[in-house]
Amino acid sequence: MKTALVTGIQGQDGSYLAEHLAGLGYKVYGLVRSDVERPSWLAPIAHRVELVRGDMRDETSLDSAFQKARPDEVYNLAGQTSIPTSWQIPDETFDVNVGGLARLLQIIERRRPQTRLYQASSADMFGNVDGHCHELTPLRPTSPYGISKMAAHRLCEAYRRRGIYAVSGILFNHESPRRRPEMVTRKITRAVAAWARGDRTRLKLGDLGARRDWGFAGDYVKAMHAMLQPPAPKDYVLGTGKSHSVADFLTQALAALRTLNGKGLAVTRLEEWVEVDPRLMRVGEIYDARADAAQARRDLGWKPNLEFPALVRMMLQADLKGVAS
Ligand code: NAP
Repeated sequence: MKTALVTGIQGQDGSYLAEHLAGLGYKVYGLVRSDVERPSWLAPIAHRVELVRGDMRDETSLDSAFQKARPDEVYNLAGQTSIPTSWQIPDETFDVNVGGLARLLQIIERRRPQTRLYQASSADMFGNVDGHCHELTPLRPTSPYGISKMAAHRLCEAYRRRGIYAVSGILFNHESPRRRPEMVTRKITRAVAAWARGDRTRLKLGDLGARRDWGFAGDYVKAMHAMLQPPAPKDYVLGTGKSHSVADFLTQALAALRTLNGKGLAVTRLEEWVEVDPRLMRVGEIYDARADAAQARRDLGWKPNLEFPALVRMMLQADLKGVAS
């Protein structure tokens, strides 16, 4: 039986990945920072998943988690993942996102150099690119988060040159009902669900015209596993190749509400429901970048399955039921 160690297992991607790996027959160890209540998604796979305590900023805890798991594969998904927060705590962002990976790579090299590592790189490394991004598109990140991800990405390349099997998945935005509530997509589906219940609080958003390439997290974790299977390590870009604006997301959520509850909301002008808050306008906002995932399609046979309208509907449905908060 293969063994995997997943950092960030309680996050969106970690939870879907643990389910996928357990389904493939893996024994999964998941790194958690503290003893929190075990999330409900874990129940069906609890016999295959063991949680181990550890913090990406603390080498001793990472070393003992690694020694306990003796993993064939490490999936490094833990991170300080919020761009706005990365401007407030750039030092901690670097310590977790870059220092944490450096600690893991050092432990792998010292303890079990045949262990393969997946690193969660991000499309935010590209910065403002007007068009599609592939594995060789130059990296010009605009936020501390993006810069930390670029440093981690380069660290993987350096360790690869030393013989460690390390790959980076450069993922465009991927969402789900498990997305953190402060992320714009969840903010929108939670607000629309609250409006459907009679709440009339206006939703505060930043730039409604900012566009993102949004896919479904459950599709993307399958590629994470696939990336660690070939004989030689290689990086891959993942995304849908299509972008939508924040306003499109909101409009789609309102349309989904009509099909889900049969009546929807009488929205004539978005401005009546949304307040554009200048404080949410981002320094270094990325306006429109899309993935060119041709290499993943060709080598791994990967493609995203869930289309944008179905993704928005799935998230709204979960928020209407109140199961995803
Ligand atoms: P997420 O839901 O925010 O989960 C991040 C996880 O990291 C959480 O479980 C969190 O633990 C853990 N964590 C944070 N600081 C830690 C520390 N010091 N030590 C140990 N664990 C720590 O993120 P996600 O959306 O699943 O994303 C997974 C990874 O992919 C991240 O590295 C993210 O930057 C990257 N990524 C995500 C996207 C996307 O669109 N989702 C796109 C590109 C790249 P707690 O539960 O204790 O807070």
